[in-house]
Amino acid sequence: MSQTSGAPVQQAFGGMPTPLYSASPSRLLTWLDCPRRYRMTYLDRPRPVARPQRAHTSFGVAVHNALRDYWDLAPVDRTPAAGARLVRSSWIDLGFRNPEQSARWREKAQAQVAAYLEGVDPQAAPLGIERTVALKTGSLALNGRIDRLDERDGRLAVVDYKTSRVAPTADDARTSLPLALYAVASSRMFRRPCTTVELHHVPTGEVVTHEHTPESLQRKVAEAESIASDLRRADADYKEVGVVSRHFAPRTSPLCTWCDFRAHCPEGQAMGPEKSSWAALEPDGVPVQD
Ligand code: SF4
Repeated sequence: MSQTSGAPVQQAFGGMPTPLYSASPSRLLTWLDCPRRYRMTYLDRPRPVARPQRAHTSFGVAVHNALRDYWDLAPVDRTPAAGARLVRSSWIDLGFRNPEQSARWREKAQAQVAAYLEGVDPQAAPLGIERTVALKTGSLALNGRIDRLDERDGRLAVVDYKTSRVAPTADDARTSLPLALYAVASSRMFRRPCTTVELHHVPTGEVVTHEHTPESLQRKVAEAESIASDLRRADADYKEVGVVSRHFAPRTSPLCTWCDFRAHCPEGQAMGPEKSSWAALEPDGVPVQD
């Protein structure tokens, strides 16, 4: 799934209601992961220089692009082999140790996409591909992009592609804030029920599904509003006092070894050596076998 970011704080005027807080789900989740990373990603200008793109990001982008462009082909041309060719044409060479490693992972991505597409009906075009959706609540204006939105018997299903080495669990689908918010947004935009959220793990073809209830979706909306309320306060304080604001303490964790901004964060550097650019594909530099 891709998400868009946006400038969040609109100006309030005397006597006017408080404006909605604009955010993408990824903005909300970045705050939960680490307030300092949030500050460097969304507030600091000029933006601190992030580390170069990692190999697993290149891999994921190529797979997502191929699964998007597949639906632009004429139905008769939507074959697994065509999907594999799309991976090749959208391949990005960034972050790999050397050209050999890049070529090996490109072939792996082609094989995975082709195998995944074996289980997809080429005639059943989705309702949306990388579809931008928006949702307004009492305090929040959310926007983001869904990998795939399916229509099945009059109901909608939100599909998110995953390319990580480890397959997601049913709990990942159940607890995902972005998926729940996209379900609510899709239902309102298309005026059709949308309670199904799915994670499709392209490397294995595994699909994990969760069926939300109106109550569980409402809880997710409330969770997003609560995070946005914290962000509204933090953003305002940053505007007032800048980087000395107490709202943006580093939240150190094993994720610091992967953080794009650790070069600007002594606390994060103390968490251990930085992971190599290809570590998510080949831990410790040892090629992962099929
Ligand atoms: S290195 Fe860790 S603590 Fe520092 S900004 Fe990144 S995630 Fe936050």
